[in-house]
Amino acid sequence: MAAVLLDGKVIAKRLKEAIKQEVAVLKSKRGRAPKLVAVEVGQNASSAVYVKAQKKAADSVGIEYELKVVPQETSQDEAENLIDGLNNDKSVSAIILQMPVPRGMDAKKLVNLISPEKDAEGMHPQNLGKILLGRYRIGPCTAMAVMELLESTKVNLYGKEAVIVGHSEIVGKPLSLMLLNKFATTTVCHIGTGERGALPGHVKRAEILIVAVGKAGIIKGDWIKDGAIVIDVGINKVGDKIVGDVEFAGASQKALCITQVPGGVGSITTTMLMRNTVELFKTQR
Ligand code: NAP
Repeated sequence: MAAVLLDGKVIAKRLKEAIKQEVAVLKSKRGRAPKLVAVEVGQNASSAVYVKAQKKAADSVGIEYELKVVPQETSQDEAENLIDGLNNDKSVSAIILQMPVPRGMDAKKLVNLISPEKDAEGMHPQNLGKILLGRYRIGPCTAMAVMELLESTKVNLYGKEAVIVGHSEIVGKPLSLMLLNKFATTTVCHIGTGERGALPGHVKRAEILIVAVGKAGIIKGDWIKDGAIVIDVGINKVGDKIVGDVEFAGASQKALCITQVPGGVGSITTTMLMRNTVELFKTQR
């Protein structure tokens, strides 16, 4: 393999160490640690995995973590009241609503109801707007994790050809603004690009390639530009294996640096949730 592997676990460990130190200082100054509250409406297997990872990450950096599970039958009004209560609870620094919520519940409304001052996932419109303005300290965790991976390469993004495949609100869109803020020449590809058959053309000129689609192997190894930095956000189950969106074997022969799935972006995402929590705590009186 020619490419250098960007190891998300190593980066997450370094970031967690820094967060732990900051939490310790904040705790000694303010007499309490930041507190992250996760709200889960009904219980389901997929969010159980995330909740476990969040608790582990919080424990490792000294952040207080509380999981509030409410019954599946909780009404929209009751869920809104719960979030309202947490917004007004001074002991709570940050709130995350676990997905998915039960069918029929308006998840977007609930997320937007979380106060921007307690928005652990950085998904409140006010916090997303700050990214547009280039004045942000918190942001959507996956996009922030990608930026950490890019930073670890020490590459200067100024003027570089950056191509993002996927324009979701949690990854591609915020990332496009984060890269623009660094003066990368940023192209965002989406379903329209794919349907037009224009994906290979864009990918082939990418010096920085970030893929967040959710389709195994959609990016072929021989499309990768020699010396590119490739960040694969995709998580796909193929048989009993988890793979990314990029054909790793071929891509790693051409890229300068590349992430693996698992072991790349996903390893850092929960750490970003912890960092958002600390940043929110710092701005609260
Ligand atoms: P999403 O909301 O489904 O977005 C997928 C994006 O890919 C959409 O913008 C979609 O465009 C685009 N797309 C679909 N088919 C395409 C094609 N043939 N050509 C070009 N673009 C195409 O998914 P997401 O939440 O962003 O997640 C994307 C992947 O990242 C998933 O595998 C997910 O599991 C993974 N993920 C990983 C992490 C992590 O921590 N590692 C975190 C979040 C997500 P349209 O919207 O126009 O259809």
